[in-house]
Amino acid sequence: MRDNSHAFGGGSGRCCGICGGKFGLIRYYCWRTALCSKRCVDGFKAQREINQVASLVASSLIACMSDSIRR
Ligand SMILES: [Zn+2]
Repeated sequence: MRDNSHAFGGGSGRCCGICGGKFGLIRYYCWRTALCSKRCVDGFKAQREINQVASLVASSLIACMSDSIRR
């Protein structure tokens, strides 16, 4: 049970980090994450950008909230 969840959430395992599929002849690497196809590389980059924007929005929201709390 534990091994199963670890393998699924590990990311850098034997499966693609985006679609979870097995690798073909070619592997793509993006930020130490192994991906199976260029489509997954694009998806990975898009996901990273979304995460960065989300964290930026979250941090600015927190700053805004703490600012309003101070007042
Ligand atoms: Zn993939």
